[in-house]
Amino acid sequence: MTETFKNYVAGQWVDCKSKKTFENRNPAYTDELVGKFQASEAADVHAACDAAERAWPLWAALPAPRRGEVLFKAAELLEQRLPRVAEEMTREEGKTLPESKGEVKRSVSILRYYAAEGARMSGQQIPSERESVMAYTLRKPLGVFGLVTPWNFPSAIPAWKLAPALIAGDTVVLKPASQAPLSAWRIVEALHEAGIPAGVVNLVTGSGTGAGNALADHPAVRGISFTGSNEVGNKLYDKVSARRLRIQLEMGGKNPTIVLADADVDTAVEILVNGAFFSTGQKCTSCSRAIVEKAIYPKLMEKLIARTRKLRVGNGLDPNVDVGPAISEHQLQTDLKYVDIGKKEGAELLCGGKRITGGLFDKGFFIEPTIFAGVKPEMRIAQEEVFGPVLSVLQADGFQDAMRLANKAKFGLAASIVSKDLSRVHEFINTIEAGLIVVNLPTAGVEYQLPFGGTKSSSFGMREQGHTALDFYTETRTVYVRY
Ligand code: NAP
Repeated sequence: MTETFKNYVAGQWVDCKSKKTFENRNPAYTDELVGKFQASEAADVHAACDAAERAWPLWAALPAPRRGEVLFKAAELLEQRLPRVAEEMTREEGKTLPESKGEVKRSVSILRYYAAEGARMSGQQIPSERESVMAYTLRKPLGVFGLVTPWNFPSAIPAWKLAPALIAGDTVVLKPASQAPLSAWRIVEALHEAGIPAGVVNLVTGSGTGAGNALADHPAVRGISFTGSNEVGNKLYDKVSARRLRIQLEMGGKNPTIVLADADVDTAVEILVNGAFFSTGQKCTSCSRAIVEKAIYPKLMEKLIARTRKLRVGNGLDPNVDVGPAISEHQLQTDLKYVDIGKKEGAELLCGGKRITGGLFDKGFFIEPTIFAGVKPEMRIAQEEVFGPVLSVLQADGFQDAMRLANKAKFGLAASIVSKDLSRVHEFINTIEAGLIVVNLPTAGVEYQLPFGGTKSSSFGMREQGHTALDFYTETRTVYVRY
């Protein structure tokens, strides 16, 4: 029997007001219904915001280390359930089981990291210029935050928004992506069982336009943390800026990996294959542009194509599979549309580019890992985010040309370089237009204890993750004491 998952509002598991549900299906095998979720609308979101508003004063007043105890307990519960939660993630999102296990483990670490931040919720003591005056700052929570998350990291992204908000003393309403809501639901379940007070965390599933959009309308909401597409993020920004709400937007990327002539070819191939194709290229930090110095180009391309052709695509639960399906028919059609665009623009399709069909493949959304060569910087496949396993390769005349090509994009999330030349590596670090700068590693693969975020049109607002994340969820109060 398929389970129906409820919303979590004011400490209770509840149906949405309309009693309507929507389906969550396995993108590798669409006959499998993973679960049914509440098709919530504005009224459900507003009830959750009301609950969060009521819960805030007591939660904010609880000493931060005590708030941390709840997060530690939730981390422990999630860790105990890791094998099952990871398998569910593969069933709802499609990524391979090792990728899902890594992500749930990361969510556990995120909960623990911010739990410990409770004991470090410090301000600063700053010398006053007046005698007998002590001056210092305090961090204070703001109130209710709306959290809107995408499907591609269905556990880690909710975790990296929930945990800093909660430890800061804010209360939240989370609206996870409709295509993969179960992984977020499991975190909220763990928080509930860990004893989080009623109303501090609320989870409401439903469409972006019906439920997500309504978060921005509730008067108690003091800020919104959003991760997703530029289209939706920019709309949300327009909506909340009139109310001067805090907003944090993490959006798309067109992340380059530069390979210089001195690079070790095998290392560069592994970095490109990992960055471009793992998680089906569905990471905001995936590499979608390889910028290769001419001298190394022929050797690199030969090995890159051979390695890419060996990737095994299929159901992520199969231990022999390297690359899972696209999340949906819609995303698969977007990937194929860009293959078509690339061909029409005159790029050379060197491998992949087709939907994989036959047998069980017909039950899912599978596409061959794809490489285009001869890509020019003005082509759409060099400029627009595909969000699938499609790599565009551009040739560079030298280091300066590679830097010019890398920076010729509206996005600026992640960028990497493969080289042993220290001076060029440092010039890359200083001049690349990216929030995440990576050397001799894939563009993807960030760690929770460091700040995360992009530049240019990839991001807006304060950084997520690491200690820095607390800045978004708190405000500074300044105190002068005459003694
Ligand atoms: P999306 O379509 O923008 O959806 C993101 C979230 O916003 C979902 O929960 C969605 O709900 C909700 N939403 C949709 N319309 C809304 C509206 N009008 N008001 C409020 N919320 C609304 O993005 P996605 O397809 O899930 O994710 C892929 C995108 O996320 C890519 O562009 C990727 O680069 C980006 N991403 C960025 C980062 C980063 O940190 N920079 C990380 C991961 C992903 P529904 O699911 O119900 O539509």
